[in-house]
Amino acid sequence: MNHLQTVTGPLSPTDIQGPVLTHEHLVLDLSRDADRAAVLSPAEHAGPVTAELAALREEFALSLVIEQTCRGMGRDPDALARISERSGVAVVAATGWYYEPFHPSEVGAAGPAELTETLVREIEDGFGASGIRPGLIGEVGSHGDRPSPAERRTLLASARAAVATGLSLATHAQLGHGGLAQLELLTGAGLPAHRVCVGHQDLLDDPAVHRELAAAGAYVAFDTVGKESYQSDDTRLRLLLALVEAGHADRVLLSCDISRHGYLESEGGQGYGHLFRSFLPKARAAGLDDGLIDLMTRRNAVRFLTGSTTEEF
Ligand SMILES: [Zn+2]
Repeated sequence: MNHLQTVTGPLSPTDIQGPVLTHEHLVLDLSRDADRAAVLSPAEHAGPVTAELAALREEFALSLVIEQTCRGMGRDPDALARISERSGVAVVAATGWYYEPFHPSEVGAAGPAELTETLVREIEDGFGASGIRPGLIGEVGSHGDRPSPAERRTLLASARAAVATGLSLATHAQLGHGGLAQLELLTGAGLPAHRVCVGHQDLLDDPAVHRELAAAGAYVAFDTVGKESYQSDDTRLRLLLALVEAGHADRVLLSCDISRHGYLESEGGQGYGHLFRSFLPKARAAGLDDGLIDLMTRRNAVRFLTGSTTEEF
């Protein structure tokens, strides 16, 4: 099976013995005039972030964080490597473009070929001179039921870069919307559905869409667990149970998408551990057994990242 590309080098999938957080941010800057708090700064917050991950490794054997901060989102691969080394938790970094309001100027009028080349170069050569390489294309965004013209270009380029490099691709579907259109565009560009994770589906209270995505072979991300102001965890659990009941547990990915310093435990927030401390106990109480929990928190993540279609994981 393919190796995982982490910020500290290649990692064998067999080394992933504990759970994976599949969509997080450890360092990020999405601050705008109207919102100054959408920040996890390497100077101010790397300490508390590292402490949380180290504690989760200790308590729950947290093995890997898939860090989906991409171009234009304040990404800092060197800071990710330091956090990974100090916490003992492997980290996969990403490349791609978020949804249009956060596109950096490089997207501008660049065509899909030029954008594809930008991603392929970064995947093959690494981030700047750091030698650190992305292990995922994500979180590639769109908003609304259909991607905007600029989002179509970045999604298309991301699909082509994924095909060219063998990386998998995770999307940001704003508030859960537009996932089917994303998948159609990506698979239309030649990317197999099992290399795609459609993001933020726990924000969409529509089990039929979840079933359709999973039946097509894509991974379905319930990745904003604990963000109660967007969706209650009770609703998330109901939607998750419906998807499992429909036979699609092997397509589920889980995470908390910590994206503001106020979400950190040190600031009274739910923290990266909310999935393990609060949500999974409720899922177990609702009848999901340890085998299913291991499938949804570890094996699916490894299969998604490596593109494996075998039963090995
Ligand atoms: Zn995110």
